Formats: sequence, structure tokens, C-alpha cells
Amino acid sequence: MNSSPVCIADSLPVRAGLPKKLKPILNPVVAEMVCASPHLVVDLVEQHGSPLNIVWPDLLRQNIETLRSVLRRHKLLHELLYAVKVNKSKALLRIAVHAGIGVDASSFYEMHDALSEGLNPVRLCVTGPAKSSEFQASSIAHGARISVDSIEELADLEQALTRSEEDTKTRLLLRFRPTASRTSRFGMNAEGVTWSLRRLAHLQERFTLEGFHYHLGGYGIEPRVQAIRELSHHVLEARALGLDPKVIDIGGGLPVRYVDGDDYEAFMREQSGDDYRTGRVPESFYPYGGGLGAAEWLDELLAAPCTDGLSVASYLNQMYLALAIEPGRSLVDQCAVSVFKVTRVKRLTDQTSVIFVEGSSFSACETWFRSEFLVDPILISAAGHDVPVRAWIAGHSCLDDDVISNRLIEFDTTPCAGDLLVFANTAGYQMDLLENEFHRHPMPRRVAVTVDGSGLVTISPDD
Ligand SMILES: *Cc1c(COP(=O)(O)O)cnc(C)c1O
Repeated sequence: MNSSPVCIADSLPVRAGLPKKLKPILNPVVAEMVCASPHLVVDLVEQHGSPLNIVWPDLLRQNIETLRSVLRRHKLLHELLYAVKVNKSKALLRIAVHAGIGVDASSFYEMHDALSEGLNPVRLCVTGPAKSSEFQASSIAHGARISVDSIEELADLEQALTRSEEDTKTRLLLRFRPTASRTSRFGMNAEGVTWSLRRLAHLQERFTLEGFHYHLGGYGIEPRVQAIRELSHHVLEARALGLDPKVIDIGGGLPVRYVDGDDYEAFMREQSGDDYRTGRVPESFYPYGGGLGAAEWLDELLAAPCTDGLSVASYLNQMYLALAIEPGRSLVDQCAVSVFKVTRVKRLTDQTSVIFVEGSSFSACETWFRSEFLVDPILISAAGHDVPVRAWIAGHSCLDDDVISNRLIEFDTTPCAGDLLVFANTAGYQMDLLENEFHRHPMPRRVAVTVDGSGLVTISPDD
């Protein structure tokens, strides 16, 4: 190259270059900052360092309203809970609590944070297969609903109750492991559920069985409907024993669309080993451009045939059962972006370069799950020479595996030091699941953006 690229540090104004292939779907509020006012993003990274997670908590409220309207349309008794493990942001948790939905907490600390935000413990459900005795005791003391993962856990809870001073009844769900998930370590099979129901029938002065629970991997609708069919027998069994289950909690797994479905299918069809620095296409991907968003998915699930010619929604209504859902990823859809500053671009072969960024793959962690984040980053750079490049993206650590993208991404403009790469829609398990202080780099910062009615933007720390 004989002309050196123009960099942010040297010249303003900056521009945001949308990628060509796997363009992120952007909420207009996010696009307003990232695409229309990229200099704001530059300022924020200047102030808070790289990587920087920018969170829009109000978008969580919109996602809540969207799901609520589907549930209302089906005239269902329902409970919506925020699976708080999806993101460590307190601002997001606060919005969920203030919007009046419940919280699914799977650790003492998640529970504590939710209660500190003012969550009414009536709307708290504690889940997880290996709750410590402290977590159990504290859940009992707060009057949380406890999802019991095993007959062993039920025995521990009985023990805990004999020790506790509480005279209120402890509220339980039984976590079910459907036939199709028989190799999973979560929940109880049909035998375990039957055993627990018989036990609970004798313990009604201490426990209230509120219902049944499951949470399945994958994003399929039919496995979840099948799990309700299997549970329908246990609902009858419980009622015959004098118990009164009132809710079926189907967990999370509602899908999120990150990129346009056609772009995604075209990419999946055309990709090959040549598109990866490893020479190999990963075996599995999140369905980044799946056909259904969370609302359509929920609508389809509720309309699906369940038992005796009834849809899921009519079955639940006929049995006076409420539906509980605990979405994580889909409630934080669009709620954050992660910004990395480019440190250096190094040419490796005639065809490929590696972009080093300030930050690590612990802050964009799909590669640690042997997969890839199939959403191209937006490049914020100074207006300058447009020299295209095909590059993969590496973190700043000395770990060979510290790779943010094994996939070779095509840029119209070669990024240069000081430019920013913005990964969109990272709130769901991407941005902070594995973050740490490796190499003693400080923890990445998180800031929350709120936009008032007149368009005034306020930015506050959210660490
Ligand atoms: C992780 C988890 C969820 C949330 O799952 P998403 O796929 O993020 O919607 C809900 N319930 C339980 C029990 C979980 O473990």
C-alpha cells in the first residue's frame, strides 16, 4: 500500500460503515447513535475505554410489552419473568423489575440484586440444579417460588424447613425433564415427578405445589409443546392427590433475530471453509437469521395443537393453568452493543489480515463455544481511502484462542488503529458472560443510555 489510511485520531468527522453481508438488524434508537451519531460512540470509548458495552435499558421495556401483548391476545393467565443470568447489567434488571414482571434468579447474588431493585418476592422464581443450602434457606426466608430440580433437592428442602422458623408455606415448582431430554442433567423424569407429588401430598402444611417447570435447550416449538402434553398427566395426577398446581412455567429459549433471514440463508448456503481462518465451518450456530422473532414464536407455540384437539392456549385455559415464561435472550434483544477499538491491522497473507482490538474474546464470546457470532461489525472510521480487506479479528491477549471472529469479514475500508468495531445486539450472553481481568486489564465498562421524549440523550455508568 502506498497511501496510508486516514484514521480517527488524525481527522474528523467519522462515519459508520454498515457491513455488506451479515448486516445487523438495528433498533432505530440504537441506529440513531451508532450510525447517525458515530462521534458520540467515539467520545464514549475515549472516556470509558475499550471494549465498551453500551446498554439501552428502555428497549427491554418494549420487548416486555411485545410479549405481554401476545399473552393477552390469547387471553391467558400469565406470568412473565426476566431470566437475569442473560446479562450483568443492573440497569436492565431495574427496568424489568419496574415494569412489574417477575425474575428468574439462579444464584444467591442474582436473587439479591433483584430484591435490591425492589422486586416483590411473590414474583421471584429461583431455579438452578445445584442451589446451595444458603441459597435455599434465603429463598425460603424471602418467600420465593423454588423450582425443585430433583427428589434429592426436595429432601434437602424438607430438611431446611425443619430448621427454619418460617411458618408460611414454601412455594414450589417441580422441574420436569421431558422424555426427549432424557440425557439432560436438569429436572426430574416422570417417575421423579410422581414420587415428588406423592411426597408433597403429605407435606401440604409446609409446601404449596404451585406447578411445573421446564427449560429446554434449542429453540424448537414442538419439543416444548410435547413437554406440556407429558406434563398434562402430572397435572391430573397432582389434582387427584389433593394438590392444586396453577402454573406451567416453560422457561426461556424464545428466539432472537439478529440479521435478515434472506441474508442469513444466503450466507449459510454459500459459506465454506475458505471463509474461516481455521479452514473449517463450525458445526453449529445460533439461528441468527431464523424465521421467527420471539413474539411470533410465542404466538405459534400458543396456537399449536396440544391435547384432545385443544391448542396450548385453550388447554391451559381449560385447566385453569397460567403460563409462565422466563425469557432471557429475547427480553434483551437490541438492548446493547459492544464496541472495540482497533489496535493494529496485520497482514498475514496476500488475501487475509488480522485485526487486533483492545479487548478480548471474553467480551464477545461465541468462539469459546466453538461457534461464531454471525453478525458483521459496523466499522466507525474516519472518511478516507477505501481499500477493502478480508480479515479475522483477534483480542489483545497472548492466548492463541483469543479470537473474536474466526470468520473472515469483508470490509470496504481497511480499519486502522483507533477505528472502532461495533458489534450489535450483544446483550444476550455475548458481552459479559465470560468477561474477566485476564492480563490484569480492567473489567470492561458498561454505560446505560436513556433517550427522553424530546430526544435528549443521557448516559450513565452501569457497572
Ligand atoms: C437460561 C434460562 C432461561 C433463559 O433462557 P433464554 O434462552 O435466554 O431465553 C430461562 N429459564 C431457565 C431455567 C434458564 O436456565
